Amino acid sequence: MKEATLVIIKPDGLKKSLTGNILTRLSETKLKIIGAKTVKVDKELAYEHYQHLKDERFFPELIKYITGELHHDNRVMALVYWGEDAILKVREVAGATNPEEAEPISIRGAYGRILTIGLYENVIHASSSKEEAEREIKLWFTPKEVVYELYPIGEVEVENYKLEVWK
Ligand code: GDP
Repeated sequence: MKEATLVIIKPDGLKKSLTGNILTRLSETKLKIIGAKTVKVDKELAYEHYQHLKDERFFPELIKYITGELHHDNRVMALVYWGEDAILKVREVAGATNPEEAEPISIRGAYGRILTIGLYENVIHASSSKEEAEREIKLWFTPKEVVYELYPIGEVEVENYKLEVWK
């Protein structure tokens, strides 16, 4: 079934100039890119994105990582991929969460590492399920920033302007 998935190239990926290599690896999936942008991640977005991990001991480091504090580079690249079994295909190319356990030819296996402070510096994020993909895409992208109408869209009026929002 065709579905969408969110990919985030994390600050280490941008700092190490790996964007091109990562996009090339992702293109092996033959999925379509239907949304792409660079984002400065603030704490609010970081907390919301990783809400399911808020009780983990590595959560504070994870927030420093995704907001760019660890790499002194606060850019990430967010992408929406679309196509048949997109979630599984991207997770396969991405590799396991722990870079040491990831297939050596996967993105995380090739470019990830474990920092001495214990954090998995694993270069990219990839949605783990259809529900998570929907939640994450709605969090990172407005309807206008995605080429396909993935989910129902509504309108809110702000000072005579009509803005499109996810319903
Ligand atoms: P993902 O879906 O494979 O990214 O894994 P999760 O959603 O479970 O974790 C989100 C991020 O938290 C990972 O990409 C890692 O950067 C970090 N992380 C997850 N599990 C661990 C862990 O056991 N130890 C450490 N240090 N970091 C972790």
